[in-house]
Amino acid sequence: MTPLERALRERIAAEGPISVEAYMEACNAYYYATRDPLGERGDFTTAPEISQMFGELVGAALADCWKRVGAPGDAIYAELGPGRGTLAADALRMMRAAGFAGDAHLVESSPVLREVQKQAVPGAEWHERIDELPAKPLLLVANEFLDALPVRQHVGAVERRVMAAAGGLAFDRDGEIVETSPAREEAVTAIALCIAEKGGAALIIDYGHERSGPGDTLQAVRGHGYAPVLADPGEQDLTAHVDFEAVGRAASDAGAAVTPVAEQGEWLIRLGIEARAQALSRAHPERAGEVQIALERLTSRDQMGELFKVLAVHSPSWPAPAGFE
Ligand code: SAH
Repeated sequence: MTPLERALRERIAAEGPISVEAYMEACNAYYYATRDPLGERGDFTTAPEISQMFGELVGAALADCWKRVGAPGDAIYAELGPGRGTLAADALRMMRAAGFAGDAHLVESSPVLREVQKQAVPGAEWHERIDELPAKPLLLVANEFLDALPVRQHVGAVERRVMAAAGGLAFDRDGEIVETSPAREEAVTAIALCIAEKGGAALIIDYGHERSGPGDTLQAVRGHGYAPVLADPGEQDLTAHVDFEAVGRAASDAGAAVTPVAEQGEWLIRLGIEARAQALSRAHPERAGEVQIALERLTSRDQMGELFKVLAVHSPSWPAPAGFE
């Protein structure tokens, strides 16, 4: 039995079955606090870990948006859940080259990952929560952050819970499941309020769906494969698809402008990833094969290109970032 399962069983014995939301929150808090889960030897690989091209294009899109609004000197780079800091390092390299000199602010709850980020993004400032970000124009990115925030599940009108069972944990009910995520809406609202008031643009990139709809999307990943959601609590990554319709609504309710949802593949292609891949391959012919494989992983429809989506939230007085036709 994992240490977290022991704690959860004690909690359930004391308070009764806990919601799926509370389960997911407890599992991910423990999981991220106790390891660096990224990369080949970890549990999963994210887009910035596949290739530097991903972070570079994010940086180019943010810098372009910032320049078009007159390059305000008080703007900051901000990132939610920066993992190993790879995306921040690649994006900031592009942004610095474009003349951006603002500070970097990273929202990260995991002490283990903060240590890794300190190597990748020297001089950054760290925050525990989004509402601790300074009230300044934001150039923000969140890649695979919202999917880790907890979802609530309902079967009909009743919230689905996790109970103790012989030899493990079990759901208290099954049926047609509807997911909502107050935690995600709270995160998006906080960003959108800041952007509506102070200016800025945010790129929200994650796997998920463009329109709300019923379905159980909670999943566990461990060692690059799927695992049962209730197995080994705290030792595997729990995520659920992001409902981009709900994200967009939370942002516009808070007064920010929202772009249409783009698929990651088409978005990267519009931003010029193919030309970037060619340039990298010319500069490093020994890496051309690796660059081509990365390009396909990031853009092709049967890999990350279609499942992953991108949405931009921006100030009504800023232009929309490029890539959303
Ligand atoms: N963006 C990175 C990592 C994605 S993994 C990448 O693309 O590689 C999710 C990240 O979000 C991790 O850094 C994790 O520690 C962080 N995280 C998860 N829940 C969080 C929370 N509630 N508050 C702050 N950070 C959180």
